[in-house]
Amino acid sequence: MTAARKIVIVGHGAAGLTAALAASEEARASNTAVDITVIERSAEGVHGGNTRFTPCYMRLEAPERLSPGFVDDMMAVSSGKNDCAYFETLAAEAPATMLWMQSHGIEFHNPVYYLSVGPPRIQPIGGGETIVRELTRAAKEAGVRFRYGCLAEALEKNNSGRISGLRISNSDGHPETIAADVVILACGGFQGDPAMLREHLGPGGETLRMISPGTRLNAGHGIRMARSAGARAAGDWRGMHIEPIDPRSQGPAPVVLVYPYGIVVDIAANRFFDEGAGLVHEQWEEFARSIHFDRKGSEVYAILDSRLLDIENYGRAIRSEVPAYRADTLEELAVMIGIPGVSLKATVDVYNAACTGDSAKFDATQKDGLAAEDCLIPPKSNWARAIERPPFLAYPLIGAIAYTSGGIATDTNARVLGERGPIPGLFAAGEITGHFHGTAPNAVAVLRAAVYGRIAGREAARS
Ligand SMILES: Cc1cc2nc3c(=O)[nH]c(=O)nc-3n(C[C@H](O)[C@H](O)[C@H](O)COP(=O)(O)OP(=O)(O)OC[C@H]3O[C@@H](n4cnc5c(N)ncnc54)[C@H](O)[C@@H]3O)c2cc1C
Repeated sequence: MTAARKIVIVGHGAAGLTAALAASEEARASNTAVDITVIERSAEGVHGGNTRFTPCYMRLEAPERLSPGFVDDMMAVSSGKNDCAYFETLAAEAPATMLWMQSHGIEFHNPVYYLSVGPPRIQPIGGGETIVRELTRAAKEAGVRFRYGCLAEALEKNNSGRISGLRISNSDGHPETIAADVVILACGGFQGDPAMLREHLGPGGETLRMISPGTRLNAGHGIRMARSAGARAAGDWRGMHIEPIDPRSQGPAPVVLVYPYGIVVDIAANRFFDEGAGLVHEQWEEFARSIHFDRKGSEVYAILDSRLLDIENYGRAIRSEVPAYRADTLEELAVMIGIPGVSLKATVDVYNAACTGDSAKFDATQKDGLAAEDCLIPPKSNWARAIERPPFLAYPLIGAIAYTSGGIATDTNARVLGERGPIPGLFAAGEITGHFHGTAPNAVAVLRAAVYGRIAGREAARS
């Protein structure tokens, strides 16, 4: 009797779970004996990495249908640097992957997205937590074994250069080597490692706040292990996905995305960018990055007035549980947030004087063309209405990182690539792989984790 093929998967998020389930199904379909183990560093109950905390918007029109122009969008967002073949395979396999997830108990709907329109998106009802719960259940039913509290640390190879094992620190803290015919790395980026953040994003990277409790768990182990085993680096090592959040909140992902409808000032009460340059998902990375790296104190303030409260469903764009600072005058508001009142008043006066457009054109859901006068520096290209109707409101904002873009090279079969081609027995999927350049494409991170996780599992069972 042939021994069961040992498949070891590192990571319990979307990529790891789709890989585990797909490997088990492929093995059953081809009558291959497999022994599948998922290694997860966190404890059972808090497992799931970033996937657990994501609202999980996915760039499809419906589970069975991608939006037209998907691949072109992926290339445009990276100024042509993204690997076209990777995104073509993603596009080709996305609908089948969503339908497969549906068959495992995950229901999708078309969500409302903050306030602004944008590309069509679907969302699992219940967000990423539903993916973690339902795929864990399905994988357990399929015989996949889960080991929690185990930190993967290194890969082992045999004399012919094929992966032969995974070294871990087990739940008792002891070193252990698990024999493996195949290892699938699905253990995320390097955002949880301050030294790597500093090295690749620059000084100050090490103090970035993590956007959710699951984010810190991805501390670059998988990338380092794969690199030591000969994997090529890929992706944009200076790239990350970062969003503006309310630093007062203790909750996960407390984004505040109403700032385009007012102005944003720094600690000296000066504006520093065009708050109306684009829809939030088009500019939040650049904005949040500049808060952290370029603004004194790495904190800024969105300043609004009571007109915010008249915007239909404005609360959808505020995920902080802490209310805005609120005052009857700008000077009082400035005292509350600790910035100079005279300067704030002067900044708002200059801004208001440039808001001469017809405010009836205001439309929070799309770029409304309501621009301030050209003399305003920096400009305000959309949603430029005077801030004049008390109470005045302020939200502090900092940048919080969700994931990094630099990672390891993989092909369209999710094989990890070394300098001379695929490394036998090694696959990877999700955040650990380096496939994003420039701005992270909106609503694609979970999608690619699921699609390539499933491919990795399938191929691992076949290889
Ligand atoms: C708040 C938030 C909002 C987001 N919103 C969206 C969105 O709307 N749409 C979208 O597409 N993406 C979104 N993302 C990004 C997306 O959630 C992630 O990129 C995606 O879920 C990554 O999946 P993954 O399986 O690769 O990694 P993860 O889900 O992070 O799983 C990695 C797992 O590996 C484990 N691990 C790490 N190192 C080791 C080790 N050495 N040994 C053992 N285990 C290890 C971790 O504990 C974790 O469980 C968001 C992320 C966050 C945090």
